[in-house]
Formats: sequence, C-alpha cells, structure tokens
Amino acid sequence: MSQPIQTIKGTKDVLPAEAVRWRHVEDVARAVLGRYRYQELRTPIYEATELFARGIGEATDIVGKEMFTFQDRGGRSLTLRPENTAGVVRAYIQHKLYTGPSPHKLWYLGPMFRAENVQAGRQRQFHQLGVECLGSEDPRWDAEVIVLAADFFEGLGLAPSAWELQLNSVGCGACRPAYRDALQAWLRQRAAELCADCGLRTERNPLRVLDCKVAACRVVLAEAPLIDGALCGGCREALDTVVGLLAAAGVEACRNPHLVRGLDYYTRTVFEFVTCDPRLGAQSTLCAGGRYDGLVAELGGPPTPAVGWALGMERLLTVLPSEDGAVASPVAVMVSAPGAPLTPGFQLVRALRAQGLVVDLAPAGKLDRQFKHAERLGARFALVLGEQELAEGVVVVKDLTARTQERLPLDAHALVGRLSQA
Ligand code: ATP
Ligand code: MG
Repeated sequence: MSQPIQTIKGTKDVLPAEAVRWRHVEDVARAVLGRYRYQELRTPIYEATELFARGIGEATDIVGKEMFTFQDRGGRSLTLRPENTAGVVRAYIQHKLYTGPSPHKLWYLGPMFRAENVQAGRQRQFHQLGVECLGSEDPRWDAEVIVLAADFFEGLGLAPSAWELQLNSVGCGACRPAYRDALQAWLRQRAAELCADCGLRTERNPLRVLDCKVAACRVVLAEAPLIDGALCGGCREALDTVVGLLAAAGVEACRNPHLVRGLDYYTRTVFEFVTCDPRLGAQSTLCAGGRYDGLVAELGGPPTPAVGWALGMERLLTVLPSEDGAVASPVAVMVSAPGAPLTPGFQLVRALRAQGLVVDLAPAGKLDRQFKHAERLGARFALVLGEQELAEGVVVVKDLTARTQERLPLDAHALVGRLSQA
C-alpha cells in the first residue's frame, strides 16, 4: 500500500461531530448579526498582494513575514487573504456600497491564511468571523460592535466570567504624532533593556512595541509614557462615550493603556476580548478590533470612517462548552429483503426524503445484520419490502424500540404520518 497523504502543517480537518458545533456557532452568529442589521459579504480568498500591503501595512508582522504570496501564470503577485478587512473595504469601494443609507454594516466568515509558528490556537489556515461598520465616526457604533460581540458570546452560553474586554484609544491624526514621537524618544533611551524585535519596531512602528509579549520587555514598558495623557479633546470625549455606553449596556470594560494597533489609519477605539482559558496558552485573544477612519481613503475610496472586529473561530470553539455535536440519526432505514427487486425500496426512500424525513438504505446482507445496522445508526424504524409485500402493495414498518411491527400501505404520504409520530 502506498503512504497515505496527510493534512499540511497548520491546517485541520473539521470532522463531522465537530462540524455540528461549527454550524451551531454559525447559526447563533447569523441570528445575532441579523438583529443588528448586518449583511453578509463573501469575497475571494485570494487578492492582489498590493491590497494587503496597502491595507494592512508593510510595517506589520502579517505583511512582513506571515503572508502566503505566489505568482499566477501571468506573473501577477497574489496573496491568500491573511485577514478580511482589506477585502471588505476593496469590495465596498469597487461596488460603491457607500451609496444608500449609512452606516453600512457588513459581516463575513471564512478561512484566512498566515505563515505562522503553529501552536495551540495558532494555525496557518484558520477562520475568522468579522464585522465592519462603515460610514460613521459616531462612537455609538464602536460601542455597538463591542456589545454585538458580547451578545454573540452570551448567545453561545459563554459566561461573562470566561472573557475580559480590554479597551484603549490610540488617538487620531491630531494627537497621535506627538505621542508617537515622545514614545519613540523614550524607547530609544531604553533600547538596551528591550528585545531585538522591540528595537526594530521602535524605528518602524513604535506604538507596536507597547504590546510586546516578552516578559523582560513588559517590565520596562510598564514605565513607558502612555497615550492617555496625550489624547486630544475629541479622542478623549469619544473614549468616554464608548465607556459610558458599554457600562449602560452592562458590558464591563478594562482599560488597557498598552493595547495598540500599529498603523496610521487606525484611530481612537481599539479593543480585545481576551480569555484566560489554559487550553489557548498565550493565544488568549478571541476577538480583536477597532476604529480605522483612514483605511477606506488609503485604499482609494471616499473618506469613510469605520469600525469593526475579527474573531478567531477555532479559538472560540476551543473555549466553548464542548459536548460533541450529535450527527442526526435517520428516522428509518430501508432494509432490502433477499431476492426482492431493489427499485421499489430505492424509490420509497427518495419519496420519504422528499417529504422531509431523514431516511437511509441499509447495505445489502443478511436481514439481521441490516436490522443491526439500522439500530447502530440510531433509527427508530426499519422498513422491509419483500416480494410478498410488493405483491400486496404494503411495506413492513418495524419499530426497533418497541419491538413491534405493522404492515402499512406502500405510500410515502401515508407513511410520513406514522414515521413522524415517533
Ligand atoms: P495574535 O496576537 O494572536 O497573533 P493578531 O493580532 O495577529 O493576533 P488579528 O489579526 O487581530 O490577530 O486577528 C483577530 C483574531 O483572529 C485573533 O484575535 C485570533 O482570535 C484570530 N487569529 C489570528 N491569527 C490566528 C491564527 N494564526 N490561528 C488562529 N486564530 C488566529
Ligand atoms: Mg498574529
């Protein structure tokens, strides 16, 4: 036998019992998103590399070292999407989705791809559910997307004690540049105490240094100047409004002044839903988002303020209570009697399915093995159509639980009533 082929490192199969759990999460998501008037958008899983270079930023880890980039046969550079805000914004501009009542509320769900070190909660193909609210800078939308995520968790039965909401403001074009310069100057002074990555980021993207995960760096960074003291009046007011609305909605937020997004077109609100579930180790962020008032214009669209988040489906599924999803059992299984023609049973099964019942065929073999098969599938009934039944125009309906049987007319409409009584 030749060697069986396995999944590629960093990718996973979702097996049937697990797929039932995914479906449940997706169903709850659709229901909650619908109540907030979000509309689904499906974009391609690969795009021009330039979209991500401009939309995420050259200075980020994602663009710098995590993208799966390849050339097509015409020599164009394409990239498997590492996230989907850039794709949503591209579609928003391309299809002029900005016409019509604003804000525009879009959501997506699908696979994303990043060349990462594989660990618990960190894969190379993973799935994100995301929302983008485009067209308004009113901080009520910031609060709304956060409350939406909290409602989604609640709908899934995830206790508020299972997560913590961390919140910060990264300022805006008016107040951030001065803070960025002050932070950079401070980081340069303390460079000797920081890791090599922090050294690089100090020059390219100093705000990003603040969320370095290295323990020794965190000790030093605890003394770094914080943006709080530097926020302009507008940013301060927006932050206070978000905090106030969250409190009114009963969603508790913890201020984390070290929470940042590194790029210039991220503005004001940033937030993360973090869990302390030990199964995720350091990969504790379930959902991350913020306001990006400059991105739509950066990608060539009309200036459009926006706010959104993306949530890691695998991480969420890891922390959800994990009863295995039950794969639906058939109501009835068609047993083929030795010597009888195959066609009538095949047709009856199809007619019952057309009536909405879950029905299956037993594999050919000895009768008692076929009944066993039906029981193992969890079926309530076995249906038998032998030559004599066919001659009489009836079918034997054997109740596998009650151990009784009856002969009923061979008519799908009539049978549905009996089979659904179970
Ligand atoms: P991290 O700091 O964990 O690398 P990130 O800042 O790269 O996260 P985002 O780009 O903000 O993450 O993505 C939003 C969410 O998507 C994350 O909070 C996480 O739940 C999920 N996610 C990101 N990368 C991965 C991955 N490689 N595998 C599984 N889930 C991921
Ligand atoms: Mg990452």
